[in-house]
Amino acid sequence: AEVTMDKIVSLCKRRGFIFQSSEIYGGLSGAYDYGPMGVELKNNIRDFWWKEMTQLHDDIVGLDASILMHPRVWEASGHVSNFTDPMVDCKQCKSRFRADQIDLSAPCPVCGTKGSFTEPRNFNLMFQSHIGANTDSSSVVYLRPETAQGIYVDFKNVVQSSRVKVPFGIAQIGKSFRNEITTKNFIFRSCEFEQMEMQFFCKPGTEDEWFPYWRGQRMDFYIRMGIRPESLRWHQHGPDELAFYAKDAYDIQFLFPMGWQELEGVHSRTDYDLSQHQTFSGKDQSYLDPETNDRYIPYVVETSAGLTRNVLMALSDAYDEEEIAPGDVRTVLHFHPAIAPVKVAVLPLVKKDGLDEYAQKLEKELREDYTVFFDRSGAIGRRYRRQDEIGTPYCVTVDYQTLEDNTVTLRFRDSMEQVRVPVAGIAARIKQEMKD
Ligand code: ATP
Repeated sequence: AEVTMDKIVSLCKRRGFIFQSSEIYGGLSGAYDYGPMGVELKNNIRDFWWKEMTQLHDDIVGLDASILMHPRVWEASGHVSNFTDPMVDCKQCKSRFRADQIDLSAPCPVCGTKGSFTEPRNFNLMFQSHIGANTDSSSVVYLRPETAQGIYVDFKNVVQSSRVKVPFGIAQIGKSFRNEITTKNFIFRSCEFEQMEMQFFCKPGTEDEWFPYWRGQRMDFYIRMGIRPESLRWHQHGPDELAFYAKDAYDIQFLFPMGWQELEGVHSRTDYDLSQHQTFSGKDQSYLDPETNDRYIPYVVETSAGLTRNVLMALSDAYDEEEIAPGDVRTVLHFHPAIAPVKVAVLPLVKKDGLDEYAQKLEKELREDYTVFFDRSGAIGRRYRRQDEIGTPYCVTVDYQTLEDNTVTLRFRDSMEQVRVPVAGIAARIKQEMKD
């Protein structure tokens, strides 16, 4: 069956992945809450990325910069003057649209009035606030619209305080905010979201080696996360899309339910960002190569992914409705075990005769290593289906035979196969299964 956004939204609400923010007040558009399953899924993707980018790459260090920054940062980065979308309003019904996303000669898609659009005007996407009690222009602060600038302005601090040498990277995960005009398609484009960004600083002239390297690394990452390769593709920015300072830029696109859309950008950005900060701050941003004694402003290859957009990708890629017998359809999320919110469900076949106690003891042991779900209510088949819907890769069932010979049934989500295994080595067995 076709995977539609409606089906994903409905599953997310039903099973506690994602809720609309402030729903009891009618909701706030562009803002979402991650429920018990959603926060596990998001954290797992976050951890998968963090491990990949820091632990497995010895030339990358981490950073957690603040969301609020000096307002001059956003002048230097170009966001104050350029981070805009063209916007039009319908004079009749006051609906707001991105001028580049609708046909301005057609009637308003909301109220149907002809020729009612205002002239397009540029609308800055940064949320603005004030710091301190004054609200004059000197107290303006912005909620960061990207995490990257925190990395650039801390470049010198990192170089001076850790033993990194160019080429090296700085990785960061955190919230970003954009006052998006249109926020349809669920969490794909929201006003508050999370990014996972890495800026790789290299010697000018070497960027053409690092750029293909990082493109390869980033695509591999998604394959290792279990995403179907046929749902991923590259899109190279054409001359009209490429920023004036950028040397080259590719996006990784994913086939979302509404079509191919950007998931991550891998961009070759030259020394533009550091040079801008050098000009605006008046502080030297150059790097002295300790081996050659060359002094230069490093070039940057950046990888910039949306964490919350990754969550939508993981859900869309994993979602399936399978007819397992005539008229019997199961909804299942085929998550890679590494990102599945719950790794193991422990299910006592019945509550009585000591089965529940036995299962609780096993649950407690497994909790040392895994997120575990204990479920004692309902027919066993229904309990398996419930786990399928949240993407739990393994179910362990305790039954009467368990009391006799200390074996349990291990049930696999994808194949629905069931095997009898000794309870003694169950944690190790699951670890092995997760690796395969
Ligand atoms: P778009 O053109 O779609 O607005 P962009 O090209 O401006 O996006 P970047 O600034 O390159 O996006 O941001 C890097 C990544 O951050 C994107 O690939 C996306 O995954 C994520 N991202 C950007 N804006 C949003 C948003 N409003 N909601 C969720 N994720 C976002």
